[in-house]
Amino acid sequence: MIIVFEGIDGAGKTTMCKMLKEYLEQRGFSVAVYSYPNKSSLYGKIIKQFLSSEIVLYPEEQFFLYILDMYRDKKDVLEKISHGYIVLMDRYYTSTIAYQCSQGFDYDFAKHVIEYLRLPKPDIVIYLDIDPITSLKRLKSKEKLEVFERNISFLEKVRNMYSQMAREGYPTKNWIPIDAKNSIDKVFADIVDAVCKLIKC
Ligand code: ADP
Ligand code: MG
Repeated sequence: MIIVFEGIDGAGKTTMCKMLKEYLEQRGFSVAVYSYPNKSSLYGKIIKQFLSSEIVLYPEEQFFLYILDMYRDKKDVLEKISHGYIVLMDRYYTSTIAYQCSQGFDYDFAKHVIEYLRLPKPDIVIYLDIDPITSLKRLKSKEKLEVFERNISFLEKVRNMYSQMAREGYPTKNWIPIDAKNSIDKVFADIVDAVCKLIKC
């Protein structure tokens, strides 16, 4: 079982992922969390340089680096699942599609690459939907914003890509939109409500 957290920067993914991990563990589930980009991995280190504006990357380079970062974990993720873990993803290839296809990378080709690599498929996507003005306000206290965290009109495009995937039910029909503007407690309660309907927790 793979549960993915999606949403633009500052939507609350990392916060909610941590809270859901604790919640599920308290109920006896084994939980593994993966977070992308993994800033200490082979490809993640390059992505980190890109996000902190040390280097510039073409959307194509960004796409393949992100996808390779996930591909490196594939075996590990499949092993966790076969041992009965619930795998939580703090961003996954749905982010790569949303962010890189918003810069012109071909959407259908992106889906083909993901299919070709047989990346483990999400069972549930929890989509924390929020407008970029509100979400970026939440990141104001950060010392240095990353490359995508500065551009409201770009994040609007990213949001539209998320909406497109949600409409299509890609990569799963269990795409759960959550109003992420609400308080932390309300957002979390909505997530628990939705997840527990699907996995009986
Ligand atoms: P993301 O991982 O999606 O970028 P984070 O979980 O890191 O977002 O949250 C960004 C900031 O917003 C953090 O300081 C977090 O405490 C705060 N935050 C998260 N969810 C909410 C919420 N529902 N309401 C207000 N602030 C929130
Ligand atoms: Mg985060």
